[in-house]
Amino acid sequence: MAAMDDPGPRGWFGSFGGCFVPEALVPACEQLASAFRAAMADADFLAALAGLQRSYAGRPTPVTEAARLSEVLGVRVLLKREDLAHTGSHKINNAIGQGLLAKRIGKTALVAETGAGQHGVATATVAAHLGLGCTVYMGAKDVARQELNVFRMELLGATVVPVTAGARTLKDATSEALRHWVTAVDSTHYCIGSVLGPHPYPWLVREFQRVIGDEARAQCAELLAVAAPDVVVACVGGGSNAAGTFAGFAGTQARLVGVEAAGGAALTDGRTGVLHGALSWFLQDDDGQIRQAHSISAGLDYPGVGPEHAWLAESGRAEYHTATDEEAVAAAELCARTEGILPALESAHALAWVHRAALAKDLAGGATVLITMSGRGDKDAATMREFLRGRR
Ligand SMILES: *Cc1c(COP(=O)(O)O)cnc(C)c1O
Repeated sequence: MAAMDDPGPRGWFGSFGGCFVPEALVPACEQLASAFRAAMADADFLAALAGLQRSYAGRPTPVTEAARLSEVLGVRVLLKREDLAHTGSHKINNAIGQGLLAKRIGKTALVAETGAGQHGVATATVAAHLGLGCTVYMGAKDVARQELNVFRMELLGATVVPVTAGARTLKDATSEALRHWVTAVDSTHYCIGSVLGPHPYPWLVREFQRVIGDEARAQCAELLAVAAPDVVVACVGGGSNAAGTFAGFAGTQARLVGVEAAGGAALTDGRTGVLHGALSWFLQDDDGQIRQAHSISAGLDYPGVGPEHAWLAESGRAEYHTATDEEAVAAAELCARTEGILPALESAHALAWVHRAALAKDLAGGATVLITMSGRGDKDAATMREFLRGRR
C-alpha cells in the first residue's frame, strides 16, 4: 500500500486499523463504508460538499507567509490557516462531510463524543445547519471544565450527556457514544471527531480533512514555485488535521512531521493495542489498561493515535515528536507577538517543535516549513493566563 492510499475493504493501514466492534455494529460500519465510497464517486455529493465548504465554512482557508516569525526562527514559515474556518478549527471540515453523508444514507440524527468540546460544537453546528438531531457525550469532568462549550452546544440545539464512568473524560465519552450508536443505529449516524475508531472512520475522516492538504499543496506551489515545502508539520491528537495535511503531501518529497503533546504521546510512550474499534498505538500501564493522557491542550489528551499514523511512523514516511506544555505556551506567545495570530494550544505544539528543531539545526537555515494552524487560540486564553500567572 502506498502512503495514504485507500486502506481497502477491511480498513488496514499496514498492520494497524481494522474494525473491532460488537456484532450489532458490523452492518452499520459496512453500510457506512460502502455509502462513503459511493458518495465520493458521486458528482452531486462532491458538489454539495464543496459548496458548503466554500459558502458555509469559509474555504479555502489561506496560507499566510509568517515573515516576522521566520526571521526569529531562521526558517521560512508558512501557516495553513484552519483557525479561520467556521467555528475556529479544522473540525468543521469533517463535521460537514459526515453531516452530508448521514443525510444521504437517511439518518435523522448525529451522535458524537467530545473532549474539550470543539468537535461537539462543530457537530452541533452542522446538525443545526442541516436539520439533524444531535446528542453529544462528554465526560463529566470535561463538562465541568468546559462550561462555555457545553452552553454553546445547547444554544445550537444539541443535547449534552455527561458521562460519569471511568475517568469521566474523552475516552469514556467515546465508549458511551459508541454504546448509544448501537441502540439507535437505524436513525443515527455516529460522527466521530478524529481519524480514530473502527473502519471506515479513520479513512473517511482523513478524506474529509484532505481538503487542508490539497489546498495547501496548490497554495504552496504558487508561493514557492516548487512542488512542496521542505517540511510539513502538524499537531497530533487523534491525528485528523495532521492526516488531512499529510494526505496532500504524501506523494511529494516533503518531510512529514507530527507533533504530539509530551503528556499524551502515544507514538513515543505507547504500545499497540485495541481501543474504540481499531488496532493502533495507545498509552497503557503494565497491565494493558489505558493510561490517562495529560496536556495543557484538551484537544491533544486522547490516549492514542489514529491507526494510519501508527503505520506512517512504522513505515518511516512520517516522523513524530513531542512538545511540552511549557514549549507550546511559549510558541503560542511568540506567534501572537510576531504575527498577530494567537494559535490554539494544540497547534502551538507544531510550532514549538519547529522552534526547537530550528535552534538545533534539525531544520536547515532557510528551509521552507508549512505548519497547519489547526485552530484559533481564543478558547485557550484563560488557560494560558492561568499557566503564565503560575510562572511569572
Ligand atoms: C481537536 C483539535 C486538535 C486535535 O485533533 P486532531 O484530530 O489530532 O486534529 C488539534 N487542534 C485543534 C484546534 C483541535 O480543536
